[in-house]
Amino acid sequence: MSDSENYEDTVGYTLHGSRYLNLTNRCGVLRCAFCPKFNGAWSVKEYDMRLHHHPTVDELVEAAGNPADYHEIVFCGMGESTTRLDDMLEVARRLREKGAKLRLNTNGLGSMMNGRDVAPEIAALIPTISVSLNAQDEETYNRHCRPKNPGAYRAVLEFVKSAKKAGADVTVTAVDGLPGVDIAACQAIADKLGVRFRRRVLDDLV
Ligand code: SF4
Repeated sequence: MSDSENYEDTVGYTLHGSRYLNLTNRCGVLRCAFCPKFNGAWSVKEYDMRLHHHPTVDELVEAAGNPADYHEIVFCGMGESTTRLDDMLEVARRLREKGAKLRLNTNGLGSMMNGRDVAPEIAALIPTISVSLNAQDEETYNRHCRPKNPGAYRAVLEFVKSAKKAGADVTVTAVDGLPGVDIAACQAIADKLGVRFRRRVLDDLV
């Protein structure tokens, strides 16, 4: 039996009274220089976020537990949930039937990765969306997030606009303390887009 067969993946984990779901370690477009996983650290609190398999929809629903026990169920792991858009939406559908309050933490590149504007279909099932804006301009964003595709920063802004238009409660975030990141300017972008803003600190990626 291989090590991976003995290993129990962290599919669901609990923080601050909410249940989080770790769908994938893939990020699709981004390779953020500040990401713990690119710095040899795969832990969020006491949880090891490395996945040795992609959890199935059934496993994810089971890992969410009883929604009544949690403030929210959050799609957020050490990877980008919208790389598994169909599975994420199916899990959301099933959890809503159980009365779950849902949130997505995303890098905002779901539309770029899926080749169409996916914000409305996400917002229809997951009413609260937190988007990592990460910088006040494309140059600073590219320096820290290292996107593989051009146009990623603009794609994030378009995703935010579309999610808001679709009726989601949208918050954009930026990490305080990264060189060149101007938190006040990020807040101003959020204000202009008519969405909330939250400042994050480096060791608090959820
Ligand atoms: S999108 Fe999130 S998980 Fe992916 S590299 Fe960036 S910080 Fe890490």
